[in-house]
Amino acid sequence: MQLTKTDFIQFLNCPKSVWLMHKDPEKYPESPISDFDQKLIREGYEFEGHVKALFSSFENASDFEFQATYKTDDGLLARADIIRKNADGSIALYEIKSSTEVKTDKKHHHLEDAAFQTVVATRAGETVTEVYIVHLNKKYVREGSINPEHMVSVSDVTDRVSNILPKIEKQMDEALDLLQADQIDRSSCRCLLLSKGHHCNSFEYFNPDLPDPSIYNLPSLWGKRLETFVTEGRLELSNIELDEVTNQQKPVLAAFQNGGQFIDRADIQNFFDTLEYPLHFFDYEAYGSAIPMIDGLSPHDHLPFQFSLHIMQADGSVSHVEYLAEEMKLPEKLVDALVQNIGGSGSIIAWHKTYENERNKHLAKLYPQHEEFLLGLVERTKDLEDVFKTGYVDIAFGGSSSIKRVLPVIVPDLTYEGMDIAEGTAAMDAWAKMVAEKDSDAKAKLRKDLLAYCERDTLAMVRIFEYVKSVLSSA
Ligand code: SF4
Repeated sequence: MQLTKTDFIQFLNCPKSVWLMHKDPEKYPESPISDFDQKLIREGYEFEGHVKALFSSFENASDFEFQATYKTDDGLLARADIIRKNADGSIALYEIKSSTEVKTDKKHHHLEDAAFQTVVATRAGETVTEVYIVHLNKKYVREGSINPEHMVSVSDVTDRVSNILPKIEKQMDEALDLLQADQIDRSSCRCLLLSKGHHCNSFEYFNPDLPDPSIYNLPSLWGKRLETFVTEGRLELSNIELDEVTNQQKPVLAAFQNGGQFIDRADIQNFFDTLEYPLHFFDYEAYGSAIPMIDGLSPHDHLPFQFSLHIMQADGSVSHVEYLAEEMKLPEKLVDALVQNIGGSGSIIAWHKTYENERNKHLAKLYPQHEEFLLGLVERTKDLEDVFKTGYVDIAFGGSSSIKRVLPVIVPDLTYEGMDIAEGTAAMDAWAKMVAEKDSDAKAKLRKDLLAYCERDTLAMVRIFEYVKSVLSSA
């Protein structure tokens, strides 16, 4: 039985899931790697290539070794991204991360990663004197070919790793002990006391008797309130009263109590009162990448390459405009198309407006001559998703307000099923292929699929909007 760095980080998140994966893999609900995760992996390798090129160009390049492997008799396995061998026989460890800083949040465990490698190398007989995280320089702006010297940053984390080493070493021993155990308590797991966002795919395996829907359909249910419901055995929504939940959770509970839906017409009307015609149902597609693809971009910048815009007049008539970049270039033409098609008045309607607003703010920096227009778009943007948080909730949304959950319930005849591009990462990949494609038929097919996908996004908003409007007028 071997414990790798990936296993250990999973152990820190959840010992039970790592035990199940190793000891009873048939019961472990393996989830397929998403397109987005695959893209992250590809970008990680790409950055690693630039780091290797940089380290190989150093005068003392022969001191560095890539992918040094360490194993211990008790089952620890580490593959260090880079080590530097010092003259006295000690080593420095370098871990490569394609982020723009050393991250220590819930999703990133850069220091724990580095500490794991340090412990394994030390137990395998090395003396580790320094530890570094190699990451992207967020201030780097591409000009011409990638310049690894300017794009790569190295942060010394020796002291920070040293501080956590005793704790990490103890946790690694606990992880090894756990993997020796033939059985664990499989009757439940600790995520019963955590909100849905923490649950992994094994939640149902460890908690097979959960009702559906359950209290975990209530958004942001955590802390004392969740603990009370769980300890009192009240996992069914039918055992919860409206005065026991927050205002954010009430619509979901009320939808359940009403046998399916909760509709607050006054709340929906409030949203409508903020709108000004013509309405611009708007969606961007953007290419985000760790390594800047073209001149003028920095690591992890998003390059908008496409938009779809359905424009609805006060009489309900709808027209459609779209833009798709043919080349991988800064989006000057896209901004021109926006200026041309979105006038100075009327609301912009997006779903989860943060994304569109971030793109507009970034474009305003790139094109100061259009700053007033682009920041004006930010001011004018309303979020249709808000209606589905407080004004209209169906229990079939599963406690979510994402358009992918709302659309099939509200407008079941309009789906993404059968489309060759049906989500954002696939659109990014398709666009990168399209701009590089030499075969005109293949290029035309990718273009058609991209336009169809983005149009579907804004048409979905139009249809959902029309549905909600009809709900209001049927009062
Ligand atoms: S749902 Fe259960 S198995 Fe999964 S992470 Fe949470 S505690 Fe672990």
